[in-house]
Amino acid sequence: MSESRTIKAKCPYCGHEFDYEVWDTITADTDPDLRDRCISGDLFGAVCPHCRKRFMFQYPLIYIDQAHQFVLWLSDRDPGKDLQATTKPLADKGYTLRRCATVREFTQKIEVLEDGADDVLVELAKFDAVIDFVNNKNRKPEEISSVEYQCMENGTIVINIRTGDEGDRGWSEHFPIKMLQEEVQESDKMEEPDNASFPAVNEDWIVSIFSDPAGQA
Ligand SMILES: [Zn+2]
Repeated sequence: MSESRTIKAKCPYCGHEFDYEVWDTITADTDPDLRDRCISGDLFGAVCPHCRKRFMFQYPLIYIDQAHQFVLWLSDRDPGKDLQATTKPLADKGYTLRRCATVREFTQKIEVLEDGADDVLVELAKFDAVIDFVNNKNRKPEEISSVEYQCMENGTIVINIRTGDEGDRGWSEHFPIKMLQEEVQESDKMEEPDNASFPAVNEDWIVSIFSDPAGQA
């Protein structure tokens, strides 16, 4: 069962405090409408009743999808031991457990895991896509505004890169899953994330793996 409660939210623009509904737990199987509101970001949007400005409001949340066997923990900090104790039985059952630091990461992770994609390979594909984009298009990494998983297609993972330039329609690249798996096997640095500890498998994670101790990618 999904569970929510009402808290006092503070408007970052005018400081007005108002009642706001936050969700502690979402069970996607019983509440598909809440799942949709996660994907759209609507669940984290707020409108100040005083100054009418809109803003995003991120709060800790546990998201459970039994059909696709994954649990997400939306939080910018590491889970405490209590949470790990609660979710260990799920990890033992083969569930994928992940921490997501931002709402953007969270919505992408839902899409990736619902597709049955291996998120380690998705992060690797995103990393490779940035390198290809910079090398082949002679662009700078800081010009990139977003790197996103799009879908799985004919044994490939499709990644889309946007620059936010006017008229930019994105640049898509297909990465064969077999090739990515080989890349993981050949790397002596990539280890299977430890599910039970709610690892964050995201951009920071993949960059930390491929950066040398001197801090150069
Ligand atoms: Zn306000």
